[in-house]
Amino acid sequence: MPDPRVLILGGTSEARALAGSLPGFSVISSLAGRTSAPRRPAGDVRVGGFGGAGGLAAYLRDQDIDVLVDATHPFAATISANAAEAAAVTGVPLVVLRRPGWSEQAGDAWHRVPDLAGAAALLPRLGHRVFLTTGRQGIGAFAGVDAWFLARSVEPPDPPRPHRLEVLLDRGPFTLEGERRLLAAHRIDVLVSKDSGGPDAKLVAARERGLPVIMVNRPPAPATARTVTSVAQAVEAVTTASRSGPDRDLGQPLIGVGDLGELGRERREQ
Ligand code: NAP
Repeated sequence: MPDPRVLILGGTSEARALAGSLPGFSVISSLAGRTSAPRRPAGDVRVGGFGGAGGLAAYLRDQDIDVLVDATHPFAATISANAAEAAAVTGVPLVVLRRPGWSEQAGDAWHRVPDLAGAAALLPRLGHRVFLTTGRQGIGAFAGVDAWFLARSVEPPDPPRPHRLEVLLDRGPFTLEGERRLLAAHRIDVLVSKDSGGPDAKLVAARERGLPVIMVNRPPAPATARTVTSVAQAVEAVTTASRSGPDRDLGQPLIGVGDLGELGRERREQ
């Protein structure tokens, strides 16, 4: 029997790790093509959009995909919605891999906001030397803010951009010592971050210095049957899904958000 075929929607370190953790599967990883020199996962790789949910559904059928994994970044809301729709239309089982978000700890001074516009509106009240770590997309939201910005991203941000801006081209993971040095050297007085989850050295460094943090909440994610939070759980879910075959109750999530425990609570609060 041929190996089961898995399509991983990627662009995250978890997606790359999962692609290398599925022996006995034929794995295709899909990247959006936003970065010019992406770290390539193991197995086959395709690059570029599918043309919406319909295009993704057609790809699933053309490529005889047995299991679809949405391991995209928690802020990549469009592709996640498309994945849910394409899985519902085709009956291809969907596994969603989402790293948990961050939680405020003792000593933190976080200000949660719903989106980048909310972060930009709040910024002037909290500081004037900003470490902006929300990535190159959406930097235009801060173009009108009267502050000095150190913006870290993998690729240079496009205009519109803040007038007083220094761009730091770099890719994580980042060390605590490095983050401490950065905050001190640039006399940063406020940090802006998405609630991406994962390594948190910048948050620890901000806590140590008593800096305020503007934390942008995750966009709502579609409720899906098999949401997991680690690569090991995703391997298990993919293996189970590949054995159980196509989802028969097309269009219906197998369990609701209310059944997702901790993760469900986190999602309802978003
Ligand atoms: P998005 O807004 O949700 O998606 C916009 C469009 O890009 C999608 O409709 C789809 O085009 C295409 N696309 C996105 N991810 C794709 C993938 N893995 N494979 C093929 N096409 C994809 O996505 P985004 O926020 O721009 O993120 C793009 C990629 O960067 C994602 O893979 C994500 O994991 C990664 N990333 C995002 C962030 C972030 O903060 N948003 C951070 C780190 C990494 P079609 O409709 O034509 O299929």
